[in-house]
Amino acid sequence: MNHATTSSHYIDTLCIGFGPAGLALACVYDEEFTAQGGTGSSSFLALEKAASCAWHPNLLLRNTDINHHVYRDLVTPRNPQSPYSFAMYLKEKNRLFKFGLLGRPASRFEWSDYMTWVAGKLKGYVRYDHAVQAIEPIVQDGQLSGFRVQGDGFTYESRKLILSNGSSPNVPAVFREHMGSYVFHASEYLDRLKAFNGDIPKRWLVLGSGQSAGEVIADLIAKKDDIHVVSVHRSIGFKVAQLGQFPNLVFLPENIEYFKGLDSEGRDRFFNHVKSTNYSGIDVDESQHLYSVIYEDEIVGRERLKMAVNSELLTLVRTDEGYHVTLRDSFTGALSEYVVDAIALGTGYQQPMVPGLLKPLEDFLVKDAQGGLQVDGQYQVALRNSDGVQIYVNGLSERTHGISDGQSFSAVAFRAGVIFESLQASVVVPFDYSI
Ligand SMILES: Cc1cc2nc3c(=O)[nH]c(=O)nc-3n(C[C@H](O)[C@H](O)[C@H](O)COP(=O)(O)OP(=O)(O)OC[C@H]3O[C@@H](n4cnc5c(N)ncnc54)[C@H](O)[C@@H]3O)c2cc1C
Repeated sequence: MNHATTSSHYIDTLCIGFGPAGLALACVYDEEFTAQGGTGSSSFLALEKAASCAWHPNLLLRNTDINHHVYRDLVTPRNPQSPYSFAMYLKEKNRLFKFGLLGRPASRFEWSDYMTWVAGKLKGYVRYDHAVQAIEPIVQDGQLSGFRVQGDGFTYESRKLILSNGSSPNVPAVFREHMGSYVFHASEYLDRLKAFNGDIPKRWLVLGSGQSAGEVIADLIAKKDDIHVVSVHRSIGFKVAQLGQFPNLVFLPENIEYFKGLDSEGRDRFFNHVKSTNYSGIDVDESQHLYSVIYEDEIVGRERLKMAVNSELLTLVRTDEGYHVTLRDSFTGALSEYVVDAIALGTGYQQPMVPGLLKPLEDFLVKDAQGGLQVDGQYQVALRNSDGVQIYVNGLSERTHGISDGQSFSAVAFRAGVIFESLQASVVVPFDYSI
């Protein structure tokens, strides 16, 4: 078999997504190849749908900060000597000493700027404006022998894929037909607001009890005095996230091994014990701020923020007056009704059992008992009937690897190192697609 490839778009290792997970991987490649006196850009390429690098740009709001330690950046847990650490960023920006005096976490703006700084140094490893729409299997003699990765105006082929495209916004079914300019997920917040051209709707419903919901409410209320928000919660309202040292030990890499050793029932139980460290909770200062808004308004006799707690959404109807929403108290069954102009969903993110982009490869995916991907300790996806091809999930394995492997910075640097080592350990011969 001739293993030389004639395809001008063949890339040895193709990464989809250049958010923190993809960036962290590019850092490893660059460090390793620089150490070998070369460059890794010919063997590793990331395709990113955004036009540039930014960290959750639609939620880069005033007065928001990161909720992890700055040592958990893109590289430090893997290689404290990396040129791509947050400390190196501060040093180059001449803020190393000044940051030390801040006495608070880095702001979301600064953390996004740090990522933009790293991405600027790794330009050769990424193509922006490259939204991957499909991954087609290349099959030879019934065996999966490569991947064709396609988007608008581009096609790449590879035998090693790393999915780093992040979690997907969770949109409850009742909202799906209404999604658009006036009903949207929080992940679209700033773009949607900008599109109002200053004519911001006055009556809002914000669903959810997590950080994004809290931040969206605080931002809306600060925009204009005549904005009213109904804040809908399934439970008792905003709770403070579990910030204690002991529960947060769960984000240490050794806990990934612990979690992986559990059966599926044990994983579910364990996840339920620790999920309040990362989900459905807000910071102390945010809780204080939102509570103060309600309290101070009461003094002057107004109500800009109405808490609708223990509530489930019963119906949502679009009328001439706006969106007619009926809520039901989940304990008493009492109904309450609101008419609003816009709805923001702070309903979090999800990781599907099988990432949407892998659907065309279903025939080759080995599933576990729950129908999800089977992922090994090196984040490699189990494949059947395959000939030397590899797929890795980089930030999409919360179900199999635990809470630090989902929507968190905790494992980003460490995991990139593990994936890189695994790829280096396996020799995959490029395939000749011209046959
Ligand atoms: C507002 C907000 C604040 C957060 N704050 C923190 C925090 O303080 N600390 C913490 O630990 N975690 C935080 N998180 C969790 C967050 O998920 C992680 O910090 C981190 O962003 C995960 O990185 P990722 O690369 O896996 O995913 P993402 O950040 O989602 O990046 C995925 C990338 O893939 C790209 N992409 C998606 N689909 C495609 C496609 N089809 N083709 C090409 N490119 C694609 C996206 O454009 C994006 O750039 C926060 C999350 C949010 C939403």
